[in-house]
Amino acid sequence: MRIAGDSSKLIAGRLALDFANLIPEAHDLSWQEFVGFLVNSEVVSEERGMRLEGLERSEPAAVDAVLLKVLRLRECLRAVFSAVEQQREFPKAWVAPINEILRITEGHDELVPQEGRWRLEFIGRESGLEWLLAAIARSAAELIVEGPMARVKRCSNPGCRLFFYDDSRTRQRRWCSMAVCGNRHKVAAFLRRKSGRRAAS
Ligand SMILES: [Zn+2]
Repeated sequence: MRIAGDSSKLIAGRLALDFANLIPEAHDLSWQEFVGFLVNSEVVSEERGMRLEGLERSEPAAVDAVLLKVLRLRECLRAVFSAVEQQREFPKAWVAPINEILRITEGHDELVPQEGRWRLEFIGRESGLEWLLAAIARSAAELIVEGPMARVKRCSNPGCRLFFYDDSRTRQRRWCSMAVCGNRHKVAAFLRRKSGRRAAS
């Protein structure tokens, strides 16, 4: 069984940015949606995800407590990444939720092979549910450390505004996804040109 979530929505190229994009309009995020995100972004295995989903019934208080932290971190990351994207400075207090998670989650880095290269992966010590946020907090911290050079951008579609990391060689990426917002823009521009010609003739 595949659990809830849609990995096609992971377009940002960085875990923390995908997390900030999670259900942009909604104020709430359900436990299922959060666990689905963790599975799709490969923070936890599918098997582990199914066990985590069950906690909503067996340990509702613990789930509620960690969900509060999830929401707080998501709001924090949205504010911070907006500032990073506009190359604005932000107050130290804004990173408090990130530091809090970095502080309570012990872990270590491990080299893991991926597509012919090596990358550093954070392995959290799995005590308490806060460790679920460790990799996200760590990814956010790395982007913040990059500073104004971080290629954090938002989709140019005013109705979308998803965050993404511009890994393109030319650094000209404008859209969360060419298939969605890029094509929509192309079609709109085409229709504008067409109707402009019609008005002129
Ligand atoms: Zn978009």
